Amino acid sequence: MFDRTGTETDFPLTTFSDLGLSQKVLSAVTDAGYTIPTPIQAGAIPPALQRRDILGIAQTGTGKTASFVLPMLTLLEKGRARARMPRTLILEPTRELAAQVAENFEKYGKNHKLNIALLIGGVSFDEQDRKLERGADVLICTPGRLLDHCERGKLLMTGVEILVIDEADRMLDMGFIPDIERIAKLIPFTRQTLFFSATMPPEIQKLADRFLQNPERVEVSVRSSTALTVTQRLVATHGKDYEKRAVLRDLIQKQEELKNAIIFCNRKLDVADLFRSLSRHGFSVGALHGDMDQSSRTKTLASFKDGQIQLLVASDVAARGLDIPDVSHVFNFDVPIHAEDYVHRIGRTGRAGRSGAAFTLVSKRDTKFLDAIEKLIDKQIEWQNGDLSALPAPMESHESSKPERGGRDGKRGGRRNERDRDHAPRPVSSHKSDIKSDDTVAQPEPIIAKADPVRAERKAETKPQNAGRNSNRPAPQPYPANDDNRDRRNRYRRDHDDGPTPIGFGEDIPAFMLIAGKA
Ligand code: AMP
Repeated sequence: MFDRTGTETDFPLTTFSDLGLSQKVLSAVTDAGYTIPTPIQAGAIPPALQRRDILGIAQTGTGKTASFVLPMLTLLEKGRARARMPRTLILEPTRELAAQVAENFEKYGKNHKLNIALLIGGVSFDEQDRKLERGADVLICTPGRLLDHCERGKLLMTGVEILVIDEADRMLDMGFIPDIERIAKLIPFTRQTLFFSATMPPEIQKLADRFLQNPERVEVSVRSSTALTVTQRLVATHGKDYEKRAVLRDLIQKQEELKNAIIFCNRKLDVADLFRSLSRHGFSVGALHGDMDQSSRTKTLASFKDGQIQLLVASDVAARGLDIPDVSHVFNFDVPIHAEDYVHRIGRTGRAGRSGAAFTLVSKRDTKFLDAIEKLIDKQIEWQNGDLSALPAPMESHESSKPERGGRDGKRGGRRNERDRDHAPRPVSSHKSDIKSDDTVAQPEPIIAKADPVRAERKAETKPQNAGRNSNRPAPQPYPANDDNRDRRNRYRRDHDDGPTPIGFGEDIPAFMLIAGKA
């Protein structure tokens, strides 16, 4: 049998009313339009309601969030929250995931009067303190911000009855395991623990063994498999950034079926570079990575989800776990260093039995990573136009003979040169999009999106008709700046889940922040 995501499963189809959920929860689930629980829900909800520990091995997109939110809502119907003593705690690796979980509580908890507090970086402590003071039934946090609150003496964890650790393998990648261990020590040993991870490397297994007592193990996806509905191709390149960008543009333009795409880079800096390059070439594009302030991340994601932007350039950390349904294409601008990231990346397309396409740009220096991927997925990926041995001699860029400004592997050097190499028009307000420092990308003012009419006209005349480029689409999203670098450097490890520490949301308070105030 196959589940909604096309993954083979042994779980028989049950209905939500078979799972033991409360009437209030069942009615919200019906209103959400769901009739059949997904395998992770069918497997995890009944033991969770019996207060058993859960080891859930499931990726995002499998209905994993509801598999802990629904039983938690049911269990929380008994009892009340006390000031500064949360009753349950959910740990998420990124702000977006935390916000998504909060949205799930809003959706499924609409018949409950529970106080949900979202403690993530990028929001003022005062506002979060007020919510804690009122007494939180559910605390949804990134680890760093939670520890900050604990250190300020504003939180007592001794009343926590349920601890959820979500995306444990991503927590490991992001270096959060020590923080999680510290947090777990603050919570009573008698708690119920629900632990979720997409993969189970040995370090995660060890952690699970330590944190869980006689857990119910629910595994719904075949580890390291890739959906059969995704066409995977390798594209040979020489590996120079300007050349890879040209290859990528060409690939995008050739995709007749391209509806939208996520383009993955290995490093935040490359996300920034590629974003700027694609916007200069007139693509409808946004960027997502951990150094962006929260309101920009929320806006970019919303624009991508509702189709206002067609391409999203992202790092693994920023994109992991996001619920973005129906992506037609994935492009790996870089071959992922961890083979498992390949599976996660291409799992963004071809969901729920739909077809999808995934292209990976490969140069000679990537071969060892490619070998690891092919070993992991246990198949050879086809080359699009011949393998590396079939590559013609590298094309010299007109700037490539100039020395690049001291960068690693020549990658970070000569940013201005890279701009010129792309043969792209300079932005109208070019000084505003210049680089502030090696690590900081200045924020282009919205003026950058309003193209020079004369130039635009000229450009339109020469513009090829293609699937990827968007003559009618909205202008590129401005690339958000990290305007608090000093703070970020000082607090790097804490905050790299969620970027710098901006001062509040300004006027961009997302809807999910407004739900927590229910009395
Ligand atoms: P998640 O894995 O939690 O990110 O969920 C992936 C998507 O599946 C979300 O858009 C959910 O709203 C949706 N979903 C969750 N449970 C069900 C269900 N039982 N039937 C259909 N869709 C669901």
